[in-house]
Amino acid sequence: MIQSVKPELVFIASEMYPFSKSGGLADVLGVLPLTLSRMGIPVAVITPLYGRLSTSAYPLRLVCENCPVGYPWPTISADIYQADYQGIPVYFIDRGEFFDRRHYYCTAKNDYFDNCERFIFFCRAALSAIQRLDFPVSVVHVHDWHAALATAFVYFWRQHDSFWADVKTVMTIHNLAFQGRFSNRLFWNSGLPDEAWNMDGVEFYDSFNLLKGGIAYADRITTVSPTYAQEIVTPRFGCGLEGILAKRKDALVGVLNGVDYSVWSPGQDTFLEQTYDLDDLSGKAICKKALIREMRLDPNLENRPILGFIGRLRGQKGIDLLLDIIPALMREDVGVVVLGEGKPAHEARLLDLMEKYPGCLCAHVGYTEELAHQIQAGTDIFLMPSRYEPCGLTQLYSLRYGTPPVATAVGGLKDTIVSYPFPGTTGFTFAESTPAIFLQCVKKALTAWENKALWKKIQTNGMRADFSWNKSAQRYLELYADLGLKK
Ligand code: ADP
Repeated sequence: MIQSVKPELVFIASEMYPFSKSGGLADVLGVLPLTLSRMGIPVAVITPLYGRLSTSAYPLRLVCENCPVGYPWPTISADIYQADYQGIPVYFIDRGEFFDRRHYYCTAKNDYFDNCERFIFFCRAALSAIQRLDFPVSVVHVHDWHAALATAFVYFWRQHDSFWADVKTVMTIHNLAFQGRFSNRLFWNSGLPDEAWNMDGVEFYDSFNLLKGGIAYADRITTVSPTYAQEIVTPRFGCGLEGILAKRKDALVGVLNGVDYSVWSPGQDTFLEQTYDLDDLSGKAICKKALIREMRLDPNLENRPILGFIGRLRGQKGIDLLLDIIPALMREDVGVVVLGEGKPAHEARLLDLMEKYPGCLCAHVGYTEELAHQIQAGTDIFLMPSRYEPCGLTQLYSLRYGTPPVATAVGGLKDTIVSYPFPGTTGFTFAESTPAIFLQCVKKALTAWENKALWKKIQTNGMRADFSWNKSAQRYLELYADLGLKK
């Protein structure tokens, strides 16, 4: 049953699991609003009605036809649909020419040419829906560059429109590298006042930067781990925005993402051949056998460690570091399984290496939710050599699946993995993103794997670690309360 009261807290985001997903952002939107709703906050989510949307289990109903948007031309409108997702209302912005496409943001080759218009339209349609449907909203919480500009509109509108007068905004940065930077000419009809065009507003070296707009105008800025919050005010991790972030440091806070353990638990995972838990890990060996079969790995690997990687095949995730050390790993007599898609050059190199090491390196280039679960369960060690990692969810899943991670000590990885040999070890971290140091760290994990008692201890430490959303949702609640949301 959908919550009976109208939403006071509204999330605006370009992805939400299970409707749409290309990464961790969707996972967060799939669980944080639900957790807050269960804590008694009337919440809603607004997201685009993409052509490729999984809504079959959630019937949509039209709740607002021709909701006026006024951008990119004055008479344009959107239809607003609503679905009930486990009791919370999810509103979909429908405008075929912007969202009914094969992909969310880009083709295999390029970003969509009109992404600026698409997502400003999305922000404005979302705010228009809030007003049209007359939500008693106190906080609008937006996510990443696609929704960031909603904070700027609220900031300027509240100066003259009584509907927005007391509304506050929170913006969460899930990944600072994706900023939505466009030509300056696109600013002038965005509907923002001219005064927003300056170095403390949306201007970034003469380009129009939507994420920067969010940073400039949100009442609070959050990012998804405490370490990343410290890192992004420095030139190394700030992606050029360290200046404005440092200026807004008092409004910036890191709140660690959590895990939806109803989706990611080996004890109740319907994608697995056999479930297992802390008390009985025997099902993990069955999952390993199933993965060997499924990925056509050498059956002899049943008794050797299999290393897994799941993620975007991009420099951020350090896929190139992994590809660099594949020959050395093969000499260690281990299996490697990769699931991901991304930069064509990395994909091609991966497939070349796979031909060179048949049965030992197996990759699936593509996006498969089911296989992601099966790799978490069926591998022994999880690899995450990210160059930077705002929070990272896959290492949190791997901890729960008894697959200790080997990861770079950055961002959320540093905050969530207790590195060997510290008491309570849950994984292995390394400081510098070079192939040699990564390899050294993997070898350390392989040596630990040989010691069965030690390995079991590391596995169970990780499986016991609790990254459920409750604690982080509580932190967000405090933040909203500071901004005037009443509980
Ligand atoms: P990101 O930086 O991409 O958001 P996260 O670790 O925070 O990284 O979250 C990635 C999410 O996307 C996880 O749920 C992971 O399982 C999923 N994922 C990434 N690539 C794939 C893929 N190729 N197939 C299936 N799931 C994937």
